[in-house]
Amino acid sequence: MKIAIASDHGGFPQKAPLADHIRGMGHEVVDFGPETGDSVDYPDYAVPVAHAVASGECDYGILICGTGLGMAIAADKVPGIRAVPVQTEEFCKLSREHNNANVLCLSGRFVELETNERLVDIFLGTEWAGGHHAARVAKIAELDRGMAHLVGSDPDIAKAIDDELARERSSVELIASENFVSLAVMEAVGSPLTNKYAEGYPGKRYYGGCWAVDEAEEIARSRAKELFGCGFANVQPHSGAQANYAALAAVASPGDTIMGMSLDCGGHLTHGSPANFSGKLYDVVPYGLDPETERIDYDEVARLAAECKPKVIIAGASAYPRIIDFERFAQIAHDNGAVLMVDMAHIAGLVATGSHPSPIGLADIVTTTTHKTLRGTRGGMILTNDEALAKKVNSAVFPGSQGGPLEHVIAGKAVALGEALQPSFKTYIDHVVENAAALGRGMASRGLRLVTGGTDNHLLLVDLTTVAGGEVTGKQLERALESVGITVNKNTIPGEKRSPFVTSGIRVGSAAISTRGFDAKECERIGELIGDVTASIDDEAKLSSVRDEVAGMLALHPLYPELG
Ligand SMILES: *Cc1c(COP(=O)(O)O)cnc(C)c1O
Repeated sequence: MKIAIASDHGGFPQKAPLADHIRGMGHEVVDFGPETGDSVDYPDYAVPVAHAVASGECDYGILICGTGLGMAIAADKVPGIRAVPVQTEEFCKLSREHNNANVLCLSGRFVELETNERLVDIFLGTEWAGGHHAARVAKIAELDRGMAHLVGSDPDIAKAIDDELARERSSVELIASENFVSLAVMEAVGSPLTNKYAEGYPGKRYYGGCWAVDEAEEIARSRAKELFGCGFANVQPHSGAQANYAALAAVASPGDTIMGMSLDCGGHLTHGSPANFSGKLYDVVPYGLDPETERIDYDEVARLAAECKPKVIIAGASAYPRIIDFERFAQIAHDNGAVLMVDMAHIAGLVATGSHPSPIGLADIVTTTTHKTLRGTRGGMILTNDEALAKKVNSAVFPGSQGGPLEHVIAGKAVALGEALQPSFKTYIDHVVENAAALGRGMASRGLRLVTGGTDNHLLLVDLTTVAGGEVTGKQLERALESVGITVNKNTIPGEKRSPFVTSGIRVGSAAISTRGFDAKECERIGELIGDVTASIDDEAKLSSVRDEVAGMLALHPLYPELG
């Protein structure tokens, strides 16, 4: 096992001998310090050990301070931690058997080293009894979920949240637009910032008392600008659709002509669908794909633009697996006196790390969601380098289309943008891209046809008509996959012959499972299993064996282990 250890100055003299003792038992030891016996504050050492244990990086923690009490109090504040200050063998044994304690807190000042060694032996050598203790420990886990108040005041909503967490944990999430945010993002979103009215922008609000939310919103704006390398960011749109509404309002008037990719080719509702404000307010000329290559037909876009002279061309998609040539789009738009609006909602994370070419500097205005590959809280943003346009964007968001900004959500966006600025986010996005390719390899090996032949980004569109006599619909496969623990969405494919409620395809994405830690080998296997389910959709024995294999993979990658 892997054991995390730390002390303060009171416990320091026993730390090295106890670490040696644990190594002698055959375990690996991770020493979280301190390195000298100088006076330190025990929470600074207890909390990193608690995080290592809660996240699953280490199996157990051993903390030593003067009494063991302060370390236990500090460690127990971390969700997922059950830390116990223990001095007797009996209590030590029971803390494991009954409470499934995962951090042992020892007294370095009042208990002899030999006794503490014995306590460590018992702690690491005693199994949790489970059984009737399980329900009690589960109630502690509910408190870990940050729901100490909700569980008492509104158990129905607490249950819905528990149900959703259980659902997220129990399936391989391949919906291309979803992801799992960090606990830090969740904490920011569930914060007192939700109480504050702040119509306007930092430094220019219509309400008093905005200095604190100004700090948060200013951080969000400056991180967005740094991440995407642009001069202006509006972080207030409540969602991607709201961002698109405001961006269009900033550059066009009702009745103007706009061009966008049609919904059935992979565009978004807000790019001109008749069911959406964009189709109702504007005169829409949709563009589509080359039927041969299934890629954007740029010559056709150029031809249509020359013909209709649109006010705005929207580039961007919800179901397009290939790189979008923003340079070509900019040339077409600007040759025809149009504004280029890029909606990078799906690929923002890839743009942030350079895995997809950036539209900044080419597009006049860029919109995005913050919750897809960017892995932040649900929301939208608008970016530009054009100062005059920036002013119009600000008034189109507020007062144009929104009232008070959701400052708690903006704080969540700031946290996620901060995470995206770390080198680890580049590593994450590299995995996302590798894993999407691996999913594709697995599916192709089972005879499923990938639209365009593969993917350059985080998602794949899959044509089901090449397997099982073309009988299996997207709707059927979505349901069959859900029954084995794989979540996807049915999707129309280019040249679709079935209705959008039935479809001949599915869309899969790798953003969420990459956050969960799945590697390329596992993703390739999931791709194969999707092919197997398609070919054996009515074979209950086959589905059952896939279900078991999927459950085994999920168990290797726990989701939010800290939440109990
Ligand atoms: C998801 C998406 C949106 C809309 O985002 P919401 O937050 O759901 O409103 C807009 N544009 C594109 C291209 C998208 O994929």
